[in-house]
Amino acid sequence: MTRSEELFEEAKKYIPGGVNSPVRAFQSIGSTPRFIRSASGSHMKDEDSIDYIDFIGSWGPMILGHDYEEIRNRVMEAIGNGLSFGATTEIEIKVARLICRMVPSIELVRMVNSGTEAVMSAIRVARGYTGRDKIVKFNGCYHGHSDGLLVKAGSGVMTAGVPDSSGVPAGCTADTLTADYNNLDSVESLFQGNPGEIAAVIVEPVGANMGVVLPEPGFLEGLRRICTENGALLIFDEVITGFRLAGDGAQGYFGVTPDLTTFGKIIGAGMPVGAYGGRREIMEVVAPLGSVYQAGTLSGNPVAMTAGYTQLKLMEDHPEWYTNLNEKGNKFFCSMEEILKRYHQPYIINHIGSLGCLFFTDQPVNDYASAKSSDTRAYADYCNYMLNHGIYLAPAQFEAMFLSTAHTEEDLNCFLEVFEDYFKMKAFK
Ligand SMILES: *Cc1c(COP(=O)(O)O)cnc(C)c1O
Repeated sequence: MTRSEELFEEAKKYIPGGVNSPVRAFQSIGSTPRFIRSASGSHMKDEDSIDYIDFIGSWGPMILGHDYEEIRNRVMEAIGNGLSFGATTEIEIKVARLICRMVPSIELVRMVNSGTEAVMSAIRVARGYTGRDKIVKFNGCYHGHSDGLLVKAGSGVMTAGVPDSSGVPAGCTADTLTADYNNLDSVESLFQGNPGEIAAVIVEPVGANMGVVLPEPGFLEGLRRICTENGALLIFDEVITGFRLAGDGAQGYFGVTPDLTTFGKIIGAGMPVGAYGGRREIMEVVAPLGSVYQAGTLSGNPVAMTAGYTQLKLMEDHPEWYTNLNEKGNKFFCSMEEILKRYHQPYIINHIGSLGCLFFTDQPVNDYASAKSSDTRAYADYCNYMLNHGIYLAPAQFEAMFLSTAHTEEDLNCFLEVFEDYFKMKAFK
């Protein structure tokens, strides 16, 4: 037994399934989790002292790689001043000012502790502001685990949501309508069927929780138009894309301006942080200014704010880092595609900037249904092979690969060699 296997047995005695978040259980690749002891730059080491090149980066936060020296130093200083006060601090202003400066659609921003909280709160704001109850989300988009958003697919876009998780009362999802990604008609028909009732449309501007699914040209623009025409708010869930595709996120990258934006993951640089923000007149409904209640004992925690601020400020000060990272990503994912071609493997790679996903299907992936056509058993085989050769990938087909500025040419070449070996083997089997 490896040390990771021993630890997993022990963990299962005290933690449901041995994990504090389900994807970490490696269930969907039929394997067991590697317990991570430490990480530095683009590498992680597990409890068996096995070294991996990390292509998850804590699901996005580690855009500068692990244990970035300046972030560590600032965090150590902050820790020396106390872990939490439950009172206002100057660092909260610095973070808020920085976010408003980097993302022009945001004039007021509220810090929370996770992406789930950010989305849940933004939706409450949209409902409070518009005085409407219904929301539209897209099949295959993930917006955290709050009750009203755990809806995947109703039976067709015209039906109200069916709960996706047990424990969610049908009443909690009755106001959640679902549309298909990249399908504006499905959104239009929801608006026609529910006139004057839809508070907001929430979307991942790049789908990154059904693998990576890019918005087709005109899709985000179309959502903007439909929302404006119907007096509904457009919410971009930029928990993955924010401060990753560009300093101003997907909204800057695609030039489409939402009314509200949610952030998470990356803005804490690895600490538990989320945020939601938008136009001043909308955000003014939030207590204590307005009647939408939202609070958090540890929100704006000084240590977490220091970590997030330091990382975002570094990114703001080095806009070329985004250019270089996105170029590196493009070159890397194109090299993967070339290898697949060389060995006549029909699989699809969707990618944008430093995000990418290999789908084990031969049809273009542009929505939930096409993503679901992937052979998850083939992914499991691939993923286990890569893991066993020192490449740490998401242990599930429908997740993104994340590159960081810390990935060196050597790291990427190492990945490509293992990748080529795998598909060469597969081609000649
Ligand atoms: C991860 C994620 C969330 C939820 O964030 P948590 O911090 O896990 O609660 C929400 N939206 C998107 C797009 C995400 O990827």
